[in-house]
Formats: sequence, structure tokens, C-alpha cells
Amino acid sequence: MQNNYELVDFNEKADIYVINTCTVTNIADRKSRQMLRKVKEINKDAVLVACGCYAQVAKEELEKIEEINLICGVNEKNKIVQYVEEYIAQNSKNINNQKVNKKITKITDVMQQKEFLDFGQATYTEKTRAVIKIQDGCDRFCTYCIIPYARGRVRSRKIESIVSEVEKIAKQGIKEIVITGIHIASYGKDFSNGISLIDLLEKLNEVEGIERIRLGSLEPTIINEEFLNRLTKLEKICDHFHLSLQSGCDETLKRMNRKYTTKEFEKVTELLRKFYPNVSLTTDVIVGFPGETESEFEETYKFLEKINFYKMHIFKYSQRKGTKAAVMPNQIDGNKKEERSRKLIELSNRNEMNYNNQEIGKELNVLWEEKEGNYIKGHTSNYKVVKMPYKPIENTITKVKIDKTENLELIGTGN
Ligand code: SF4
Repeated sequence: MQNNYELVDFNEKADIYVINTCTVTNIADRKSRQMLRKVKEINKDAVLVACGCYAQVAKEELEKIEEINLICGVNEKNKIVQYVEEYIAQNSKNINNQKVNKKITKITDVMQQKEFLDFGQATYTEKTRAVIKIQDGCDRFCTYCIIPYARGRVRSRKIESIVSEVEKIAKQGIKEIVITGIHIASYGKDFSNGISLIDLLEKLNEVEGIERIRLGSLEPTIINEEFLNRLTKLEKICDHFHLSLQSGCDETLKRMNRKYTTKEFEKVTELLRKFYPNVSLTTDVIVGFPGETESEFEETYKFLEKINFYKMHIFKYSQRKGTKAAVMPNQIDGNKKEERSRKLIELSNRNEMNYNNQEIGKELNVLWEEKEGNYIKGHTSNYKVVKMPYKPIENTITKVKIDKTENLELIGTGN
């Protein structure tokens, strides 16, 4: 690590703690605060750094937390080592013996940040899969979301930097990459050379050793015939698309400031099913958005039944301070949100079970990831979870015949 620092497990006692905070909901804020306080229980003399989105949007709140020594915004993450050393020097401190008390805050206006902050190695890597960040920021300003204020405008990472990172990852033997960002459909919007997401994917498809490219959450507006004509030529692209719908009612979508109608969304799902016959479509839905009447919810429910997603992530709307939706009239009662959420979770589980049952008897290609009890577990390209009796074949892709389903997972024999 930089300047000879050593990375230790979170449960071990460390001299410096860096907590990357989240602010996506009020609950995330609370959890971030709890985590920050917990650290000083492990080592009261440690230097404690709070960085990330919550630090970016709520520096006053964090400045009140006595335990925190250094607050860094999202633009300052790559300078944390330098700031920690500045802090230690300023407080002329022996970390183990003396109490430090002069807080430092380093936050700049994220809206002014025009370039992607490239760490070069910002990837989260498992044994078989690596998550590649291709852009930051979002220009959409959905009324419930704080992210554009915390992360600023769209900034895309240079194509050469992404390709070179993926080449390095491939050399380590990793087979699958997941393309992520805050709003990956906007990739390239800030470039003047016309490069967009599809150009990047074409380049990544050429990287030797990578066998699967999975797309993270995608705004449906990017998908059209032209995009799919190019995408389907890339054999490594996984036939799993996560399209954030949020609501199946046009009036609710308008209040959310989402940029599509249910009709347009439906057209996109039809296209995906035409181009990818085994496609899995998953989505996010928010229930209990301000003003969501019984009939609006019914519309959403019917739309979801019609689209028949493989799986849905259901979120109960949670007021996020600083957003337009937080001060909208007709906030929905918690019990109502709970009831609507339960109905949609039931629908999602039913869909998943039905889709899984259709796989029984089929042979599917699985990237085997890890041992779980007596089984080895992995995913198909369309992101179904498969298990079979354990064999030491981690990080390989093999075919397996599906015999049955159990707890929303597919079970194969491996013979
Ligand atoms: S598109 Fe996503 S990140 Fe951007 S404002 Fe909307 S919900 Fe937030």
C-alpha cells in the first residue's frame, strides 16, 4: 500500500480507520454515524477519517461528532493518505499515546468537478468477478434521490484506463467483470469524441481472458434497436439486464422525475426479449412514493405482472432530507408502505419460482464461484444462482443439468 501503510482486517486494532460513508437514505446516514462511533470503541487513539457521500453533503453533522478527526468529501478520496499525514503532523501526535483533537475538514464543491477521479485500482474484486467503475455522478435529479448532490455531474473514466484495468484483471485469472457507475447509461456524455457505453463495451469484449461482461443497473432510455444490434454481436455480454423502473404508473414516474413512460419501458423489455431469448430482466421498485394512491399502486402492480420480471428489488420510499420528494405533500404512512412492499415481494418471489421451474431439465453454463456447505455455487450468464454437489472447479465455466429448485436456487447434479 501507499507509503508503506498496511491494510488490516476491520476487526483488528488499527492506527487509522477510513470509513467510506453512504447517504442514500436517512437510514444510511444513521448507520454511517453508528459505524464512525463504533471505531473509537475499538481503538480510542486511532485517527478516524470519514469520507464519501455523507461527508460530502453533511459536513456540519459530522463536525459535531467528537470522535472524527478528518472529514473528506468525494473529490478528496485520492488524497486521504496525504491528509492523514497532514493531520498527524498538525497535531504533532504519537498515535498510540496522545489524544488528538484538532479536526480537519477537506471538502470541495463536487458540482465543479469535471473529470473522473481515477484511482487506477478502484475495483472491488472477488475470486471470479471484478466490479469496474466506469463513471461517476448523475445529471438526472430524480426527486427522491440525493446522489446528484453528493456525487456531482457525470464524469466518465477514460476508455484506455478502463481497458488497461480490465486487462490486468484478466491476467489475474478473473473471468467476469461487472460494469458499474452511478448512471452507466450516461457514459461518455462528458466526452467530446462521441464515445458512448456501447463503444466501451466493444473494446472490453476484445480483452483476452475475460469471459463474461455483466452490465450493472441500466436506465432503459439507452436501449433501442441500434444499441442492441451492436450489443448482441458481443458474445461476452451477459443476458441479464437490471432496468430500474421505480414505478409502473406514469403519474408517479412524473413526480419522481423519471425520464420515461411505462409504454416506453415496456417497448424496451420487448426489444430485449427479442434480441436475447433467455434474458433475465430484473428491476427496482419504490413503493409508497409521496402521493401514491391506491389506484396508482394498483397500476404499478398490474404493470409489473405484465412485464413479468425475473426478480424485483422492492424499496419502501424513505424521505431523504435535501430532496424535492422529502417535502412533497401526501407522504405515505409506514403501514401502507409495508403492505405494498409485501405484495410486491410476493409477486417477485412467485415470478422467480416460475422462471426457475422452467429451467428444470435444461443444461446451463455456470461460472462456479465458491464452496457453500457440501455444494459449489455459481451463476448462469442470466444471473440465476445454481448449486451442485461440491467439486473443486472454482473459477471455471461448465455445463450443469438442472434437476430441481430449492429456496429460489437451481440445483444440478453435475453429471
Ligand atoms: S438516475 Fe439514479 S442516481 Fe441519478 S438521480 Fe435518479 S436515482 Fe439518483
